[in-house]
Amino acid sequence: MSELAREFGARRPSRLVMVAKVGVGGTAPASPVVIQSMTNTDTEDVFATSMQVAQLARAGSELVRITVNTREAAAAVPKIRERLAQMNVDVPLIGDFHFNGHKLLAEHPACAEALAKLRINPGNVGKGAKRDEQFAQLIEIACRFDKPIRIGVNWGSLDQALLARIMDENARRAEPKNATEIMREAMVTSALESAARAEELGLAGDHIVLSCKVSGVQDLIAIYRDLAARCDYPLHLGLTEAGMGSKGIVASTAALSVLLQEGIGDTIRVSLTPEPGGDRTREVIVAQEILQTMGLRAFTPLVAACPGCGRTTSTVFQELAQDIQNYVRERMPEWRLARVGVENMTLAVMGCVVNGPGESKHASIGISLPGTGEAPVAPVYVDGERVVTLRGENISAEFRQIVDDYVSRKYPERASH
Ligand code: SF4
Repeated sequence: MSELAREFGARRPSRLVMVAKVGVGGTAPASPVVIQSMTNTDTEDVFATSMQVAQLARAGSELVRITVNTREAAAAVPKIRERLAQMNVDVPLIGDFHFNGHKLLAEHPACAEALAKLRINPGNVGKGAKRDEQFAQLIEIACRFDKPIRIGVNWGSLDQALLARIMDENARRAEPKNATEIMREAMVTSALESAARAEELGLAGDHIVLSCKVSGVQDLIAIYRDLAARCDYPLHLGLTEAGMGSKGIVASTAALSVLLQEGIGDTIRVSLTPEPGGDRTREVIVAQEILQTMGLRAFTPLVAACPGCGRTTSTVFQELAQDIQNYVRERMPEWRLARVGVENMTLAVMGCVVNGPGESKHASIGISLPGTGEAPVAPVYVDGERVVTLRGENISAEFRQIVDDYVSRKYPERASH
């Protein structure tokens, strides 16, 4: 954890929930904020789901959630687990249950066995009198198989009976709260009352994670602040229906950053809508970048690049910045296994001499390309010292070689490698 994070982001103490080998909760840095994601394949399709889980895990997702919505999907879960084992992927799987979860888990014990955690939504457990009974069945199964659960409240499926109760109570107040405040209160109450009920039914408190997802940034911040003040369960953060492209990324980053900065949040998911045919792993990369740019965790070397301006009219530096970013991402799976600490390396690719040498000196390796009218040379700095000046057509290949040499020299080989 960086000094910045130590100063501003001391994690709120929460219980540690063990989800297979990944602990969620506890205190940093021993228990860092965990990244999770969710598949969008049909779980009944064992091949497609296993492949996507593997992709997400290889991109850095430390937990992967899959929906379990039908008998066929429940039957597919142990097969997915098996296929993942054949691919050497041991990422814990979380089953997402709604409406019929109690039945599916009762009929398919191998599904419960294969999952590391169960997610249940108190608004979708069952209607009317059946709600409590079905909730109790789910908790009994979680206890029997010793599985942690996430009680995941979602404002799109808020428990309507509870909402009506809170509205009635509000109407009797001398100064009633407004509709937004009531919605926020209902969400927090739903999570806390469900957790209390689960504990009464025998589930240990250290087997419970809570979430209350909404799609508005200010609502999310207010709800999680309240939740964090009122319990010590680990909290799963995420903006639901964040959206597509930059809108989804910006909204998720804005909401999660404020909370993480206050030490709130033990595991995060960035719910991005992929572009048609887009890559599902984007949500994992964004989650990593949120944590890394905040100084909470390091995953991959960061490439700083200047935005460019009229002083550098060629696209050479943009191409080099992209080339280096792609190169680092490509090499990282191998480097991560082989070299200790390589994720802390920083690179700078700058467009001219105004800020180029200064920024370069602050990076592990920095290059400052020539701006318009400047001498056609590119000084390279390594750990703050100017070591070489590149020129000519092969700057990109030579710079990559400098990066390779630096990794070999600077980061020791792992003992097991
Ligand atoms: S470093 Fe140079 S090219 Fe890049 S933004 Fe600053 S002045 Fe412009």
